[in-house]
Amino acid sequence: MEKLKELASLIFPNVDKTIDDYIKMYPERNLPEGACVTRFAPSPTGFMHLGGFYQALIDYLMAKNTNGIFYLRNEDTDQKREVESAVELIMTTLNHYGIKPDEYEYKGNIVGNYGPYIQSERKEIYHAFIKHLIEIDRAYPCFCTKEELDEIRSMQEASKQRTGYYGRYAKCRRMKVEEMIEKVKAGVPYTIRFKSNGNFEKKFFFNDLVRGMLSLPENDQDIVIMKSENKLPTYHFAHFVDDFLMRTTHVVRGEEWLPSVPIHVELFEAFGVEAPKYIHTPLIVKKEGNSTRKLSKRKDPEATMSYYVEHGYPVEAVIESLLTIINSNYEEWHTANPDKSYLDFVYSPKKMSATGGALYDMEKLNNISKNIISKLTAVELYNRLVDWTSVYDKEFNELITKYKDYTIQILNIERCQDKPRKDYESYESIRPLITYMYDELYNPTSFEFGKINDIEEVKNIVNTYMNEYYSELDDKDTWFNKIKELCDKLGYASNMKEYKANPDNFKGNVADLTTAIRVSITSRSQTPDLYEILRLLGKDRILNRVNNIK
Ligand code: GLU
Repeated sequence: MEKLKELASLIFPNVDKTIDDYIKMYPERNLPEGACVTRFAPSPTGFMHLGGFYQALIDYLMAKNTNGIFYLRNEDTDQKREVESAVELIMTTLNHYGIKPDEYEYKGNIVGNYGPYIQSERKEIYHAFIKHLIEIDRAYPCFCTKEELDEIRSMQEASKQRTGYYGRYAKCRRMKVEEMIEKVKAGVPYTIRFKSNGNFEKKFFFNDLVRGMLSLPENDQDIVIMKSENKLPTYHFAHFVDDFLMRTTHVVRGEEWLPSVPIHVELFEAFGVEAPKYIHTPLIVKKEGNSTRKLSKRKDPEATMSYYVEHGYPVEAVIESLLTIINSNYEEWHTANPDKSYLDFVYSPKKMSATGGALYDMEKLNNISKNIISKLTAVELYNRLVDWTSVYDKEFNELITKYKDYTIQILNIERCQDKPRKDYESYESIRPLITYMYDELYNPTSFEFGKINDIEEVKNIVNTYMNEYYSELDDKDTWFNKIKELCDKLGYASNMKEYKANPDNFKGNVADLTTAIRVSITSRSQTPDLYEILRLLGKDRILNRVNNIK
């Protein structure tokens, strides 16, 4: 025992706090019964994956559902690059979606009593816990070189054994403490390994909240808990220390961590404390042909959170699209409670798909987004469009701020009615759908008039209408009655029945005529309400456009 203490002090000469000191510093949280403490623990890579955000959303929802705590922890123990800007990206992304961690560390500022929340700043805490493990003979320095470890692995592979540092392969585990002390003194590089007591032949039961009860083999690997080069802990050990001290009740993380559960359970047991509950989230997958595949950072632009901001998807649409894959009953709940905040929805891990991944579908996002945009008032949409264009489309931003009221009226076409228009699927999609409303942007290259394919006739229609019938004061019914009168005057059928009975008696029908007007002033065969477009463009601009068609 004395020798182990000597070894521990030799390795950590500056650690002056004990694990009991830390347990006192980070006491159990004083929260109501059932309150969940969750965390989002990304590695700051400078990239935010949709899959990470979806986990954060679950964390946030669970904490809000239960009046608990949601905190942000940055796991930078593998990080060789600048962390600051990566942390900034994570914070701004969460903020953009209105997800505010209760505790976090940002720009040198620590909010919350369980920090620091950046792992590289917690080195001495990890060291105190590792020191304790060495003292109680549950951890040891391993001096094996990379070559030696490679050799062990090759041997295991050749003889079809399980690979890893365990049992008889765990060479340094059997080294005498005196020899360890000598080597450390001599400056031989080492990692620290956990001394496993597990037996791979034995199984234990583990309850994953998504998948239910699973039976897993015990861990028997002496895993590395502290790296040699920077003395930082590995993920496994940092997970134990941080989630224990920060009093996390539920760990929401990707299913790739499921095989590591036996290690984590053994670590918690070694300290005699209870492990948190685990929610291993299925991978986000997308359809490709008849099968599905993992959403890939490299191949799929929609795998990155910045994609949704850049393309102007409403915050609510992205959240809703993820909630539909988070819980199978979300859509039903949302339909029954259309006016409630999603935070009132109670997340249930049991209602996550445990196998086959969570299928993310851009078409679904687009539909959700169209619905959400269709329900905004014109002023709300205008304000969002101004915000978005101020960053992503400066030219359009200038135009819509110059013509504010006019733009609001354009956005108001077929809005605030029983069946509002649903063609805007993002803020980005708006400009191409309404370019023709702005002379500065209108630059038609061709006109597909349809049946009335004679430019002089089209000009005649529009000029006659504008000069003899049109009035700014016309309401929609009057407008349409006048269009019918115009038909009668120019030899087009104003009545479809009559037209169908005797098509040869007419030059065309009222639909052909309105198409000709529509195309002549917008260069599109499909637009929303023509009456509104005519009203907003006004006589002068209409005549100008039509008479300039070559
Ligand atoms: N830093 C780990 C990752 O990004 C976090 C896993 C966890 O949430 O525990 O995969």
